[in-house]
Amino acid sequence: MERPNAWLSCQEEDEKQIDRVSGLYRHFLDAGKTERECVKELTSQARTYGYEDLRDILREGRTLKPGDKVYAVGMKKTIALFRIGTKAVQEGMQILCAHIDSPRLDIKQNPLYEEADLAFLDTHYYGGVKKYQWVALPLAIHGVVAKKDGSVLDICIGENPSDPVVYITDLLIHLSAKQLQKKASEVVEGENLDILVGSRPLPLEDEEKQKKEAVKENILRLLKEKYEMEEEDFLSAELEIVPAGQARECGLDRSMIAAYGQDDRVCAFTSFLALMESEPAERTSCCLLVDKEEIGSVGATGMSSRFFENATADLLCAMGQFSQTNFRLMLANSRMLSSDVSAGFDPAYANVFEKKNAAYLGRGLVLNKFTGSRGKSGSNDANAEYVARIRRILDDNKVCFQTAELGKVDEGGGGTIAYIAALYGMEVIDSGVAVLSMHAPWEVTSKADIYEAYKGYRAFLADV
Ligand code: MN
Ligand code: MN
Repeated sequence: MERPNAWLSCQEEDEKQIDRVSGLYRHFLDAGKTERECVKELTSQARTYGYEDLRDILREGRTLKPGDKVYAVGMKKTIALFRIGTKAVQEGMQILCAHIDSPRLDIKQNPLYEEADLAFLDTHYYGGVKKYQWVALPLAIHGVVAKKDGSVLDICIGENPSDPVVYITDLLIHLSAKQLQKKASEVVEGENLDILVGSRPLPLEDEEKQKKEAVKENILRLLKEKYEMEEEDFLSAELEIVPAGQARECGLDRSMIAAYGQDDRVCAFTSFLALMESEPAERTSCCLLVDKEEIGSVGATGMSSRFFENATADLLCAMGQFSQTNFRLMLANSRMLSSDVSAGFDPAYANVFEKKNAAYLGRGLVLNKFTGSRGKSGSNDANAEYVARIRRILDDNKVCFQTAELGKVDEGGGGTIAYIAALYGMEVIDSGVAVLSMHAPWEVTSKADIYEAYKGYRAFLADV
């Protein structure tokens, strides 16, 4: 039952493909550090592959036919891409699903303050983070500021080498004796994750503003100059603090990728690329990339919303085939790979894993029959027959895969979006790529796994 390491079966052509796919992936990680940036980047890439906005098709009253390629975007944060197959719509789709939001620190609505001649932005963390990991690192600000006049400013500060970065301070070791006695969950508290953004007061000649908050005033002056932004505009901003810097090759053998946001952009990008580069299939192909997974799949752009249903209904309308029956059957007869990262086995923390049922870096696409915690709570639990079908597809196409659970049964656990898609009655299984240091500012994946995932997704789309 031991699964082989994917690198061992690598031919020369595979080596080239591994380099190509991981190169495209790194480019994507750098372009998409927020859900909005991911949607923007993938929309523009999809258009180069001939995908059209479904809204345009509907507005122009055109009728879609097999082979046509369209996408639907929800609130700039979630995207569904479809390529219409030759089979009847009632037969269902092959759906690749993943999420494009990642753990981070969000700027609060009233964030700016000054203390001891330093200016800070207050944050509220998003998703599960070990707070102590986010201090003393170069950080970048990504996001938007929406103004009352309806304009929306894109912000990205800290990625260009000539940009400044921002920073969260940590206590010096010399005075940390008491701090280091605390539990790791309390060593750095959420309210102390404040972003250091300035230390220089407004110039002296401006006597009017020589009050005690001159550093804060100076930051406001800079925001006004650069972005025409007032302090009140923070009220309608979505600014995300993420680690600054590009995705890097990792290891002396360059076999891995170290980067921010690989949960779950590693599955999102490989799913997307598989759809873009695969041949037209008999069954309709779909790639669905959702937001808000890290906070429970809530909101209008999370998997629990009606976005995907609406996009599917619009697709049927644009094909001239909408009926309640077609709609219901199309969803119920679909099959999905709900992809999210798996916890990669880490020898330093071997005691939280059950070795026979753990995901290993380099051993290929991971299948999780179920996720959840304790007695499989919150899990989808794929049907055995469906697992058999997926095994057959992967074996027939020489895709390396492994099966895993998230740690030992009593150790913890976690949920995914699989159970939400399963509500339509479709076959769903959790799958994905193993990652080390999941949810850390920098996470590590294997290039071989990234390529095997891409191969596996392509093979899945071709299933009949
Ligand atoms: Mn995830
Ligand atoms: Mn996660």
